[in-house]
Amino acid sequence: MAGVERILPVPVPDPPSSAEDARVMDVAPERLDDHPHEECGVVGVSGLDNAAELTYLALYALQHRGQEAAGIVAVGQDGVARVHKGVGLVSDVFDATRLSRLTGSTAVGHVRYSTAGGSNTENVQPITARYSRGDMALAHNGNLTNQLDLRSKLVDEGAIFRTTSDSEILVHLIAKSRHETVQAQVDDALTHLEGAYSIVLSVGDTIYAVRDPRGFRPLVLGRKGDGHVVTSETCALDIIGAEYVRDVDPGEVLELRNGKVRRLRSLPPAGEPAPCIFELVYFARPDSHIFGQSVDRARRAFGRRLAREHPVDADAVIAVPDSANSAALGFAEESQTPFELGLLRNHYVGRTFIQPEQKDRDFGARMKYNPVREVLAGKRVVVVDDSLVRGTTSRSLVRMLRQAGAREVHFRIASPPVRFPCFYGIDMPTKGELMGSRLPVPEIAKKLEVDSLGYLSLEGMVDAVAEGQPYCTACFSGDYPAPLVDVERGLGSAEGPPGC
Ligand code: SF4
Repeated sequence: MAGVERILPVPVPDPPSSAEDARVMDVAPERLDDHPHEECGVVGVSGLDNAAELTYLALYALQHRGQEAAGIVAVGQDGVARVHKGVGLVSDVFDATRLSRLTGSTAVGHVRYSTAGGSNTENVQPITARYSRGDMALAHNGNLTNQLDLRSKLVDEGAIFRTTSDSEILVHLIAKSRHETVQAQVDDALTHLEGAYSIVLSVGDTIYAVRDPRGFRPLVLGRKGDGHVVTSETCALDIIGAEYVRDVDPGEVLELRNGKVRRLRSLPPAGEPAPCIFELVYFARPDSHIFGQSVDRARRAFGRRLAREHPVDADAVIAVPDSANSAALGFAEESQTPFELGLLRNHYVGRTFIQPEQKDRDFGARMKYNPVREVLAGKRVVVVDDSLVRGTTSRSLVRMLRQAGAREVHFRIASPPVRFPCFYGIDMPTKGELMGSRLPVPEIAKKLEVDSLGYLSLEGMVDAVAEGQPYCTACFSGDYPAPLVDVERGLGSAEGPPGC
């Protein structure tokens, strides 16, 4: 028997960076997707010994609301805030050692998806500051529609901003308020804000949880043992074994201190509430309850209504996974057509490097989805997606389904055409990039190369979930419920906001 050959590792030279070698293209995972992005998820924990660990787990459950950065601030009995934050997924930013240093029974956490502000560390939240009343930490989900106006006024008064985030404006407004108590300072600062904000703010070991008067973004209250938790969605309560108590009402200001909750006040109403209907269409997790209802049930209702509005003879209903699963199930139930798993999604797509020969037009979709030939061959297929934004991924998916043997492909969208940008905390492409804004539906059907195309109507979407409750539908209807102050004053672009 020949002796065992020892194989020495051969050093591989460092590859050229993408900047040095134009033949390699660096593509972030979100570029392989055609959905708009939620800009943030927030958490606040009060009165629980392991507050930072619970916040970590809650952020883990909220990872879908922001994948670019994460942070936690914990406050001990000494009132001192200890912070760790960084760029990356929650599991990348934190480890056991870092978490163990975040001691205290109060914590505030944040996950973030950045837009124009960029993913530099200065913009990572919670934003922290030390001022006359103690250490402050701020986590914000939403977008202020008067941020440019407020920022320029504050700068004129001498404020020095450390970030390009609109959230820092609130920190300055609180710090400069002349009121006596922190509570009055927070109230005073809130009167200046316009737009969308679900906020978790700590000053010392007291947390203030605030939802703007129209309630654009979700915020829920939960209870665990002797403590309380506020967070964006109930899936973050489930993961830490907290019990859902109720939604924070639009315009409500809560105080959480030593685990006890006190309702401080309601902000003056600003017209009807306008929770974001796109949270129900796509952003929130289907296992969450937000705006007082189950996200899964809302999506099934969209799918059922879509089946009534745009019926089609077909052999199978398939979903663009995972966000359209519930709507496709609703469509299948209503149309009495079998639901099949015809498309699979790779859940482990990270940053990728694409060589020129891989840069064909459908490569991005193939990185993320793969058809199941046995399900599709020879079939007339209804494909249900939750929304259509630029439309680029959808066209690639249709081609993939046909290559896998689908005889007919009928596309059904469980929301109306997206035609307008969002100014309330969702990173939407500019108006000119939105397929629904550029083209009428028959032209979109041609571009997608489908046998038929049907969108859920605006009326149908609202009827399916409203039960008398109004919603923001501005990206579908152009009917903006909160004034676009910066746009009206010529400071911002009507194509879209500057981002958080
Ligand atoms: S414009 Fe669209 S995405 Fe933005 S808050 Fe309104 S419904 Fe939601």
